[in-house]
Amino acid sequence: MNVVNHKKLPNNINLYNAIEILPENIAIYRDINKCIDCGLCKEICKEREHIKDICHGKKCINCGQCIQSCPVGALLPKNDILKVNNALKSQKICIAYTSPSVRVSLGDYFGKERGTFVQGKLVTALRNLGFKYVFDVTFGADLTVIEEAAELVQRIETGGVLPMFTSCCPSWVSYIEKFHPEILPNLSTCKSPIGMQGAIVKDYFAKIANINPNDLFTVAITPCTAKKYEIARKEITGTDAVLTVEEFSILLKAQKIDFNNLEDGVYDSLLSEGSGAGMIFGNTGGVMEATLRTTYKILTGNNLSNEVIEYNEVRGFTNVREAQIRMGDMLLNVAVVHQLSCVIPLLEDIKSGKSKYHFIEVMNCLGGCIGGGGQPKSGNGNEMNVKKLRIDSLYRKDTKSEIRLCHQNPDIVKLYNEFLNNPLSEKSKEILHTTYTNKENNY
Ligand code: SF4
Repeated sequence: MNVVNHKKLPNNINLYNAIEILPENIAIYRDINKCIDCGLCKEICKEREHIKDICHGKKCINCGQCIQSCPVGALLPKNDILKVNNALKSQKICIAYTSPSVRVSLGDYFGKERGTFVQGKLVTALRNLGFKYVFDVTFGADLTVIEEAAELVQRIETGGVLPMFTSCCPSWVSYIEKFHPEILPNLSTCKSPIGMQGAIVKDYFAKIANINPNDLFTVAITPCTAKKYEIARKEITGTDAVLTVEEFSILLKAQKIDFNNLEDGVYDSLLSEGSGAGMIFGNTGGVMEATLRTTYKILTGNNLSNEVIEYNEVRGFTNVREAQIRMGDMLLNVAVVHQLSCVIPLLEDIKSGKSKYHFIEVMNCLGGCIGGGGQPKSGNGNEMNVKKLRIDSLYRKDTKSEIRLCHQNPDIVKLYNEFLNNPLSEKSKEILHTTYTNKENNY
């Protein structure tokens, strides 16, 4: 493959229509030999992300939607395959954890029908590669929900800053830091599911497994190029490398793993599979729905029954969806947004003091993480259909799950009993929450 080393690319390459990708970009690079300067990358950045404020150069938010739009494969995730492979060959104890949406997209690379649920083979493939422990990030998602629901209720009850925005999506967080820092107090202080999972693996799991955290090498398998940026933030510790779904598939093929003929495996028991609510994090509206299920428990003292557990008001594919949800005596005003250009009117309302919402979910990618920059491409004209198949597959899994409320996950209950005490406890705040920085002029 004739790839120009991104580190040696001059800054002022002669491209007129293409978006600028700096050599130091931590998540994305351009193979200059393939680029045809068609400008589709810039178009998607303008249309989907910012309309006026195109994110490029230093203002890139690493979402990787330009990778998805490139017709000739000239834009690629920065490759961490070698780093992971070297760790697997070393003395390190390697641990992998997989994001919710990976199990409904990885099969694309192995000829499966779009949206096929391949969780069992995914786990076995990781074990065959040499990972000693394989965990599920739906566990981190369950933890995020519990902390986020507690934070929302605390803000409501104490007159804190509202509306509160979700903070799971690193591109969205980066967008606020770089373009709208006045909104930073509205971001939930919760780390993302991977941020929480990494911290818990190194601070809690290592202790109970009697392993020196320095002997661990942790890898997140994700749909997301921006996670490469997220784990490099100084506030986020615990994860040593991120592989996108595409990189992971390349590693599997290079190691001659016969994916389609693998037996189904199961995640390791502590930090095991999460709830159905954690599973739907991969879909637009999924974080909102999962958090509403637990917020209901906090505000009313009751658990939602299976008949009414699904908040269909926040599901769907419209770019901005709003709903009024009754929780006991309270009416909660919520909104779900996917695609950053669509959040701008909501931000303007907040700045002028006119926002009516308590809680807003924002995901950078169309469809949520099932449409992430590190996912398999959909093929011409097939984009919406593929996204919907992935979304349906995750909702189906939630429906079939025995545990559909994050706070009923027994491993989560054990973690709070043994280690964290309560949501928003001193310990929780120390390792599961974070801070943000105004990066408007200094990034
Ligand atoms: Fe990453 Fe998901 Fe955000 Fe896309 S929506 S940038 S995949 S976290």
